[in-house]
Amino acid sequence: MTGATKTKVAADLVVAVDGPASSGKSATFARVAEKLGMRFIDTGLFYRAACLTALRYGMDCADTDAICEQVLVTEGDKPWGLQFHTDGTVSIFERDGEQRVTVKDLGSPKIDSVVSTVASNARVRQKLMGLQRRLANQQKPCIVLGRDIGTVILPEAKIKIYLDSSVEARANRRFSQFGSKGALSYEEVYEAIARRDEADKTRAVSPLVKPDDAIVIDNTNLSLEDTVQRAVDVITGK
Ligand code: C5P
Repeated sequence: MTGATKTKVAADLVVAVDGPASSGKSATFARVAEKLGMRFIDTGLFYRAACLTALRYGMDCADTDAICEQVLVTEGDKPWGLQFHTDGTVSIFERDGEQRVTVKDLGSPKIDSVVSTVASNARVRQKLMGLQRRLANQQKPCIVLGRDIGTVILPEAKIKIYLDSSVEARANRRFSQFGSKGALSYEEVYEAIARRDEADKTRAVSPLVKPDDAIVIDNTNLSLEDTVQRAVDVITGK
């Protein structure tokens, strides 16, 4: 953000951010990270990239064993994985090389509809956990977003934030992102979000819950700008 004052945070600061679908985590914390000179890791993109790759290979996203064996392949110390670039693209290293995709490619309604199934699998999560922890450790000071960051991935994080808002507010945001393209009606967007909430909150492995020591920011009635300011205040201890 041009003109933003860089506030110093401790060099080893890790902020864990969790919250439901479309609560504005990426929009808010990409800005917060920029203002505070921190790195930003969105772990939802890991699960989304696994789905995109599976779909491109014509695989069934419910076949999580196949996804573990053919998509999330670990070769020696170099995991199958993702590399985040500063221009907003992501490199996915696949069996036959590297392809760059934009974050937009990973946010399609098709991927929305299958990602929670893939993410509910314990083997898939186990495979991605090490990579997420490693990245967070390498990229300090950083903000890490997801569903299980404060509870499972980085329980020792110094600051934990739970970003929440009503299903209506989240459906409105998602609809204004995709609705104009006519792919889904508002009701379908609302139902897709409610379904994803249910899947993420009730799964057996690493369900979405508010960490006991998290600070809640509810942005149902807050603008993006006000949400960013609230989060900056929490992180800088104002
Ligand atoms: O945050 P985003 O909507 O991109 O996440 C997509 C999906 O990935 C979530 O609905 C959830 O099922 C899964 N996810 C997860 N754990 C994370 C991040 C995302 O299960 N840490």
